[in-house]
Amino acid sequence: MRSLTNAELAELTRRESRLRLLLIVVLPIGGALMWLALDRIEILVASLMVMAIELALLGLQKIWLRWGRHLLALDYVTMVMDVLAITIGLHFLGGAEFPFDWIYAVMLASISIARGMGTGLIMAQWCTLAYGALLWAEYTGALPHMALFPIFVASPLYNNSQYVIAKLISNAAIFNLAALNAAFFSATLQHKVEERTRELRRAQAQLLHSQKLANLGQLAASLAHGFASPVTGIRGSAELLLEELPPGSSSYRRVEQILHWSDHLARILDRLRNLARPPEEVRKPVDINQVVRNVLELVEKLLRQSRVVVQEQLAPDLPLVVGAAPQLEELVMNLVMNARDAMPDGGTLTITTTREDGFVRLVVRDTGIGMTAEVQRHLFEPFFTTKGKQGTGLGLNICRQIVVDHGGRISVQSADGQGTAFTVDLPLRGEEWRRLVR
Ligand code: ADP
Ligand code: MG
Repeated sequence: MRSLTNAELAELTRRESRLRLLLIVVLPIGGALMWLALDRIEILVASLMVMAIELALLGLQKIWLRWGRHLLALDYVTMVMDVLAITIGLHFLGGAEFPFDWIYAVMLASISIARGMGTGLIMAQWCTLAYGALLWAEYTGALPHMALFPIFVASPLYNNSQYVIAKLISNAAIFNLAALNAAFFSATLQHKVEERTRELRRAQAQLLHSQKLANLGQLAASLAHGFASPVTGIRGSAELLLEELPPGSSSYRRVEQILHWSDHLARILDRLRNLARPPEEVRKPVDINQVVRNVLELVEKLLRQSRVVVQEQLAPDLPLVVGAAPQLEELVMNLVMNARDAMPDGGTLTITTTREDGFVRLVVRDTGIGMTAEVQRHLFEPFFTTKGKQGTGLGLNICRQIVVDHGGRISVQSADGQGTAFTVDLPLRGEEWRRLVR
């Protein structure tokens, strides 16, 4: 365990002095009550003695804290003195035989928790020494065997050598075990807290990252929006120019190209705006083939740059499904981008659509790195990514959400090093689908 800083020691000392103050108030009251009840003035004397030690310690702590230096030494001085106070109290109450020696163990446990095992063990030896000295002194008669309660006067155990040795050994064991045990449990707890804190930090960072992505999406949308009117302007001028040119001339053909490409640009901007738009709940009949074409148009260049060859195998007689086109585009986009990421040295991306019994099937297949069974197990969990800082781990989670929203299913087939195929089944508009949506 790391050692405490000065600030932590100061805080610890302040908290302890509040406890000490309480003790100082309680001690004389308790002593006086016992004196009245048992008619033995020594009880009051003993409690006043302990109180005096605690009062002195309190003063020392206050002054030392104001000085503010060598707080570790102050900590040790107070701990050492506290053990002495306990020993004195024990001596007056009944000495070796008084069954309150567990109080050392309680103190050692709290020392161990607050200051770590090293300090706990050092203080355990000091407790053993102090307690052993008390036993020895009473055994040899160097100190009279005090007993505030008559029962302990009757007992001659304090001068029985076997009893004294057994007591010393058993208490030394208790003291050390108390310090060790408390240190062990507080270390375990601390470890758990640190682990949870790390997890929390990670989740926070991910959240921040997805927030950043959302902001980026909005930025892209506003950029697309800003581009829209210049493109309309270019298109309008080109149309006017076209009217003035003789059809069939080379200038006419060039302006036609301008028109063609500005249309293309307008469509891309539209896609971009749709992608960034929050999912709208308007459901219409959607042609999945068109969804695939829209996405591919948007990422065509990107795929070419990554040396990915695209194969479209789109069923010509594909029935329409009912859904939200922007969401379905996002779904296909995520699958396509994942496929690209899986083929860093290029490869083939095959997108197949087929008409099945009651549903439309879309398969996105790549010839990339594939994935292990372990990765497949966590695939759809939010924030699961193997791409480090490059990934968000949100793509497939969103995909699954979209598919489920459409009453469909998504599954994966993959082997490590052998490519991957994602299969999405979207139900046709039928009784079952209606039930799922409503
Ligand atoms: P991200 O792409 O941000 O990592 P995803 O949710 O899209 O998050 O994907 C999660 C993980 O699934 C990826 O990090 C990757 O390990 C794995 N994965 C997804 N698609 C493929 C694929 N086509 N080939 C190989 N691994 C994939
Ligand atoms: Mg992804």
